[in-house]
Amino acid sequence: MPPPPADLRSDTVTRPTEAMRRAMAGAEVGDDVLGDDPTVIALEERIANLLGKEAAAFVPSGTMANQAAIRALTEPADEIIAHKDSHIIHYETGAPAAVSGCSIAPAEGERGMFGPDELDRLVRTPNIHAPRSRLLVIENTHNRGGGSVWTLEQVRAVTDRARAHGLRTHLDGARLWNACVATGRPPKDYAACFETVSTCFSKGLGAPVGSSVAGTPETIARVRRFRKMMGGAMRQSGILAAAALHALEHHVDRLAEDHARARRLAEAWASVPGLGVNPAEVQTNIVYVTIEPRLGTAQQWCAAMRELGVWMLPTAPARARAVTHLDITDGMIDRAVSAARTLSGR
Ligand SMILES: *Cc1c(COP(=O)(O)O)cnc(C)c1O
Repeated sequence: MPPPPADLRSDTVTRPTEAMRRAMAGAEVGDDVLGDDPTVIALEERIANLLGKEAAAFVPSGTMANQAAIRALTEPADEIIAHKDSHIIHYETGAPAAVSGCSIAPAEGERGMFGPDELDRLVRTPNIHAPRSRLLVIENTHNRGGGSVWTLEQVRAVTDRARAHGLRTHLDGARLWNACVATGRPPKDYAACFETVSTCFSKGLGAPVGSSVAGTPETIARVRRFRKMMGGAMRQSGILAAAALHALEHHVDRLAEDHARARRLAEAWASVPGLGVNPAEVQTNIVYVTIEPRLGTAQQWCAAMRELGVWMLPTAPARARAVTHLDITDGMIDRAVSAARTLSGR
């Protein structure tokens, strides 16, 4: 039998471990729409506590977490300020427009980041003609930025300025856990800069389903209302919350292993002819690689890698992405390196 593929497409592909499945099977449950699922309540308390917020809501996906938060913090015709490569712009089906009726002013900056001056440039002077600048959304780590990490100082500089402008603030923290492991900062420190924070359990943490939004009780009450409106209120969801609790307990510190493997992969690929990658930019678990035309398009190169048991996603005509996670072993990284060498004729 061939070895299992090295599935580097995304950190969403992880499958629940045996121990996680046992935690799920043994979960005490109730009806969360009626407010009495004890495992969901325990998870929401744990998240609120970890993030230093008063309340939190468990939601089915990271997209719903972001969109329910955006809906809770804005009014139709408001404008959101977010980096031009943000997940909320590219991967959430235009939801800010459809769900909240908001436009987005895209910020420029290297690897998903920007400073207070860029914020100043985008905030509109109140005027009868203009949309109202209302909400700043920051993504940490930044997905299309290459898993880049905003330092706490960078976050503070921009969110302090946002508050000075009277803006509200949301953190898309789908990979906040990775940022915290990379910087050694507790999640609370980052969360303190924002009114609402979304986090995800089904990326690197390895749970099958689930995200959360944390904030004040008033804002989270609104989030719960919009979660219900979007069809995201669940019943015996303690089964899923148990997986998230297990992940928080056992799968956060080990993200450091994913980061080390991503770095090793980038360092090895950097010496493969025809591939472009800067290992110094690999701060967490995401590796972007550019592919020279002589190796084919990114799509062709990924198809050839797949033949060799290495699965990746092309993300642009000459660019592909590899993401390390719970189910990626050292042997799989070795295979990803030797497969790339084979395709380059080395
Ligand atoms: C994955 C991701 C999300 C949420 O995605 P879902 O697939 O809806 O859970 C949100 N933000 C970022 C930055 C992400 O990478």
